[in-house]
Amino acid sequence: MINCFVCGKKKEDYEVWWNKIVIGITYDSEFQNNEIIRNMSDKSMMCHGCIKTIEKIVEENKS
Ligand SMILES: [Zn+2]
Repeated sequence: MINCFVCGKKKEDYEVWWNKIVIGITYDSEFQNNEIIRNMSDKSMMCHGCIKTIEKIVEENKS
């Protein structure tokens, strides 16, 4: 089981997970500059739902 560092939900390993390295490869600097992302440690894992939430926040801040 993995604990999401944002929402604290425990989920199964086979669900979609994001860590800092994957986020660094996938997203631009604007996304990585988000407060939650900056607070991630190298061992933090984030669930797919929380990534989508941050995507929305970053997108809204752009406009
Ligand atoms: Zn989460």
